[in-house]
Amino acid sequence: MKVRVRFAPSPTGFLHIGGARTALFNWLYARHTGGTFILRIEDTDAARNSLEAVSVILDGLRWLGLDWDEGPVTADATAPGKGNCGPYFQSQRTANYQRRVEALLSRGLAYQHEGAVKFKMQREPVLIKDLVVGDVIRKLTDREEADPDFVILRSDGQPMFHLVNVIDDIEMDVTHVIRGEDHLSNTAKHIALFNAFGVPPPHYAHIPLILNADGSKMSKRDKGASLTSYAADGFLPEAVVNYLCLLGWSPKDNREKLSLAETIERFDLPQILRHNARFDYEKLLWLQGEYSRSLADDRFYELAVHAFARAGMDTNKFPLAYVKAALDTCKGKFKTFQELPSYAGFYFKNEFDYNSDGVKKDFIPENKSRLQKLRDAFAGLDAFTAPNLETALKSTATDLGVKAGVLVHPCRLAATGNTAGPSLYHLLEVLGREKSLARMDRALERF
Ligand code: GLU
Repeated sequence: MKVRVRFAPSPTGFLHIGGARTALFNWLYARHTGGTFILRIEDTDAARNSLEAVSVILDGLRWLGLDWDEGPVTADATAPGKGNCGPYFQSQRTANYQRRVEALLSRGLAYQHEGAVKFKMQREPVLIKDLVVGDVIRKLTDREEADPDFVILRSDGQPMFHLVNVIDDIEMDVTHVIRGEDHLSNTAKHIALFNAFGVPPPHYAHIPLILNADGSKMSKRDKGASLTSYAADGFLPEAVVNYLCLLGWSPKDNREKLSLAETIERFDLPQILRHNARFDYEKLLWLQGEYSRSLADDRFYELAVHAFARAGMDTNKFPLAYVKAALDTCKGKFKTFQELPSYAGFYFKNEFDYNSDGVKKDFIPENKSRLQKLRDAFAGLDAFTAPNLETALKSTATDLGVKAGVLVHPCRLAATGNTAGPSLYHLLEVLGREKSLARMDRALERF
């Protein structure tokens, strides 16, 4: 059987992390099996849909690198699907729904009720054979017992979720429905609809929910709930993808950092975990650090320049070699790119405030003559290089009878305004003689 899976979001203006993971698991399964990944926008509820809401989904999938394989050909040059295909939109498929509803009506499997069309739900329990959850026998609830039938076409002609979801799964030959466990409660209705249409239902894999670290349900406002926030917070998509893979799936050897190629090779439905996944921000940060360290230079520069630009700092005003040298001193020193402007902004501005705790600790009277002596030693260097700067600082410390740190801290504060940052000797080398000495002079006036 050739696997065909789909991600079927309703455009709500928000791509929840759980939705992004559902998309990812479907995509991984398609790539693992050599199958087809379909994107279907479930936008029949016209009142709630907007183009912006669709863009949030498309931008999110694009950012994660989840490309879909088929769909109607579109003139939209930004459509990332193969061969220029856009996603399927249910709002463009209403004729199909109409036709199928008529078929149900003519066979007595649905009926008119107050202008709407209701589906005759089967009364017997429904067996759901779920690849993750196991076998579930779903009986009618007490409330359904009174009236098990449900509306499939509203009186205003709008086809309803259960109907369109199933019709499209039939029309698109979907073989596996991989979706959040919150949909398990809908599945009996879906299976009954498949039966009514005379089509065997697909395989189901309902994946556990993502909870907050404290086990509570993740709401829209919770940290990490929106996929869009990860790009804005300076995360790398490859770190987020790796992290999402681990939310509810685990390779047998418990490894955590896995390349996408490896994940595709290993990903399979039986390994999806049954218990709910808890959001672990620390693990995400750890993966972000791992991926940041191994970034190719060009990509690292590009992402860094963007991070500065977002913070209103234009690095293009500086020579490229200077920007690259500055950024090289930051590699592996920060986790998300969002931290970079405050970590290394001193390279790109001469006016900055000094960290106030640092001022209290390091800009103290007894340090003034020490910093002056260090400044003079630096000024006398032939070449303003990291090794020379280090030697000069250490010998000045020896002459003064103090530890190197006594000079390092005020010097760093003078040169950067911060109490922590890139290696002092390297950052001074990058800043160069003129800027470094000017900054030390400026600081000396503060004592
Ligand atoms: N439109 C539904 C949702 O966004 C899709 C459910 C499904 O995957 O079948 O939750």
